Amino acid sequence: MLGATGSIGRQTLDIIRQHPERYHATILSAGSRVDELINLAREHRPRLAVIAREELYPKLHDALAPLGIETAAGPTALAACVEADDVDMVLTATVGYSGLEPTVRAIAVGKDIALANKETLVVAGTLINRLLKTSSSKIYPVDSEHSAIAQCLRGEDLASVSRLLITASGGPFRTWPAEKIAKATPYDALKHPKWHMGAKITIDSATMLNKAFEIIEAHHLFGIAPERIEAVVHPQSIVHSMVEFADGAVKAQLGVPDMHLPISYALGENLRMADVAKPLRLEDYAMLTFERPDTARFPCLALAHHCLQVGGTAACTVNAANEIAVAAFLDERINFGDIYNIIERTLATTSFVAAPGYDDYVAINAEARRRAQGFIGI
Ligand code: NDP
Ligand code: MG
Repeated sequence: MLGATGSIGRQTLDIIRQHPERYHATILSAGSRVDELINLAREHRPRLAVIAREELYPKLHDALAPLGIETAAGPTALAACVEADDVDMVLTATVGYSGLEPTVRAIAVGKDIALANKETLVVAGTLINRLLKTSSSKIYPVDSEHSAIAQCLRGEDLASVSRLLITASGGPFRTWPAEKIAKATPYDALKHPKWHMGAKITIDSATMLNKAFEIIEAHHLFGIAPERIEAVVHPQSIVHSMVEFADGAVKAQLGVPDMHLPISYALGENLRMADVAKPLRLEDYAMLTFERPDTARFPCLALAHHCLQVGGTAACTVNAANEIAVAAFLDERINFGDIYNIIERTLATTSFVAAPGYDDYVAINAEARRRAQGFIGI
């Protein structure tokens, strides 16, 4: 489990806790919250616990060695641990670019992936698909929209798909005028109306870059052409996404907004476990509404089709610039409206590789971060 202490990580451990006969977390890892990782390891008794921040290693080791739990630290150990023989499936639930290397290594040795870290596919979806062609690995999407689409596509022929309709809650600023959005504070942006998630994806939902990322993610996961993938704003977050077929039929997956459901479906490799989420009572919802997204107020959304059209390392650059800009926004160094401006300026100035290999993504990610930091003045 990459990112055991996060929102997705903890909800995954809820499912593992409920089904010890089926699941065991053999490796737990985190970025820097070492006390939380120690507590989770005490409860779940993995074989190995890994912390990304190396200076926290002594604390992790001293707490877990007496329990016979192995420990390791650093990004290299984190990426290498996915290759262990006792790992059947890797949950990628870290944030941002950090998901790429462990995912590439897991695919190289044929591990299945429960993929929450959408940034991996945004940055390097073409490379990941190329690697999957010569691997026995399968990717099971954790993202609720992609889980919904996978469920709608079961038993269907991909050639008969006419559109993927990815639903979006619209985030906290759905009804705000542009001038007010530009000056929104971190406090405003962290109040997501429907989902309780980590800080970075919550800000991405407020800019709607999260939805742009999900369009890119859907393209790479399902192989559907970009012009057939659209976002639809659905504030109630009950319809998790839809697929339209050639005959005009539209299939949707509905459920209460609860990530336990898509996580469980991915962990079980499309298995329907009992009692995962509260049953949906449609009579409790007076209305389910749908609107066109507004790219004038949410310009980040338009980056999806731009990146897919341009291809190469464009989305890698957008992701890197966004990671820097979101962190700066949360530190109150820049305004909410600057997030898009920094992405746009970084995209316009960073080198572009049309047919990138792994090392090109590493280089472009580093260059884009430097340029974005330069624009912010850090
Ligand atoms: P959180 O911020 O809640 O958790 C992130 C986890 O990753 C934490 O365990 C954190 O460790 C760890 N981590 C962060 N940076 C690093 C790093 N550089 N190296 C190693 N570990 C690191 O995020 P979420 O759980 O919300 O999101 C995880 C991923 O899932 C994201 O890609 C997000 O887009 C995706 N996702 C999330 C959804 C949700 O509902 N939350 C829904 C759909 C997708 P520490 O605790 O020590 O900081
Ligand atoms: Mg989602």
